[in-house]
Amino acid sequence: MGHFIPLAELAKRLVLHHGFSATFITFSDFFSPAQDAFLNSLPPGLSSFLLPPVPLDDLPADVQIETRLCHIVARSVPRLRDILATLKATTPLAGYVIDVFGGDTLCIAKELGVPHCMYCTTNFTALSLLFYLPTLHRNTLCEYRDLPEPVILPGCAPIRGDDLLHPMQDRNNEAYAWLLHIAERSREPEGILVNSFVEMEPVASKTLMENEPGRPLVYPVGPLIRSGSNDGEEKCSECLEWLDRQPTGSVLFVSFGSGGTLSMEQLREVAFGLEMSGTRFLWVVRCPSDKEAGGAFFGDKSADDPLNYFPEGFLERTEGSALVLRFWAPQVEVLSHSSTGGFLSHGGWNSTLESVVHGVPMIVWPLYAEQRMNAVMLSETMKVAMRPEVGKDRVVRREEISRVVKELMEGEGGRAARERMAELREAAAKALTEEGSSYKALAEVAGKWKAGIAV
Ligand code: UDP
Repeated sequence: MGHFIPLAELAKRLVLHHGFSATFITFSDFFSPAQDAFLNSLPPGLSSFLLPPVPLDDLPADVQIETRLCHIVARSVPRLRDILATLKATTPLAGYVIDVFGGDTLCIAKELGVPHCMYCTTNFTALSLLFYLPTLHRNTLCEYRDLPEPVILPGCAPIRGDDLLHPMQDRNNEAYAWLLHIAERSREPEGILVNSFVEMEPVASKTLMENEPGRPLVYPVGPLIRSGSNDGEEKCSECLEWLDRQPTGSVLFVSFGSGGTLSMEQLREVAFGLEMSGTRFLWVVRCPSDKEAGGAFFGDKSADDPLNYFPEGFLERTEGSALVLRFWAPQVEVLSHSSTGGFLSHGGWNSTLESVVHGVPMIVWPLYAEQRMNAVMLSETMKVAMRPEVGKDRVVRREEISRVVKELMEGEGGRAARERMAELREAAAKALTEEGSSYKALAEVAGKWKAGIAV
């Protein structure tokens, strides 16, 4: 969902604000009811197409998500070529926009002579890493997590090796080889749109937006967050009615993204920690995964009830001051509700932008992908989030959870983070007005496509 939603939102903007029609092409692998509901709510002028599944039985069962995605993309090229060629035969194609994982499909746009660009659904910091990774790879012999000094990416705050992208944590894993491949391809598109805005990453955006030979032009177009509800009415109204009954700014929203799961032990520590904090909370819970001590992703494939994993008596003891939702919540609606005062999040970029747009300060608890880098940015550079300390056994203990929750909701640190979030919220709204930097950047791209030129 972290790629699907911002790509669809970009397509919506191009249709609603810039007069294009758009075809949104996605995969049937990973397709979920939430995605289905989202596709069914697309506005007129925006159609969608599901690529057929590709065989993946030759891949090992425990292959990382990034490796799977890259194989799906590479194996979908022939089918995608047919679709684009058919589209082009009937419609003048103004532009072809790929996801960061879509580099292997750029050859099709080049063959057909269609202007093309990449949409980086995350931020300038991650893009800076992609541009710099081939150099970093050549200059580093050890695992990045063993580097004695933090890595300095152009335009970014220093990042410790173990806070770099998840697939960079094991250089022998196939996922790392694919990441390098993606990084090498990242200079090939004619332009790159980024779902961030100048005030969010002032130095990184300035650095990457400077013209540099051999690097595509970079345009900030964010924050593009989900507009409109795509969630089941019933679930949505149950949770919003509960929020209506809570005092303003009193509820901590707890969610680890569209696929994040915690280990059994960690899930129980979160439950005890939330209870100890005495804070009101709304928690989206999934069944635990025991793959990794701290957390995993897309681990919850079970039909089991996640409530079975709570400590005994937890639901009874927290009744009245807590609401627990299984698997999914209407996140944007929750974050925009006046009772929500804090967000304990895995720091996925969409969740981060949604929190920024609604001015909700965060506790950032990274699990996978580029979330540890986001956590550094949010807690150390922007100072709009707190980051709990992880124990040596990679578990965050209940006392630490309770401490950080109380600090966010009632402490001085939380007050300061809330103030800075309010400033960022204002800057985000301004960036998207017709005079704002992100609106103008997308308008420039749209103008170039209308004139039939590369971005
Ligand atoms: N989301 C939601 N309800 C949930 C969990 C996630 O609506 O219970 C949405 C969330 O609002 C965000 C997206 O799914 O738009 C998750 O994207 P993000 O980049 O934060 O994390 P990812 O799931 O990709 O790790």
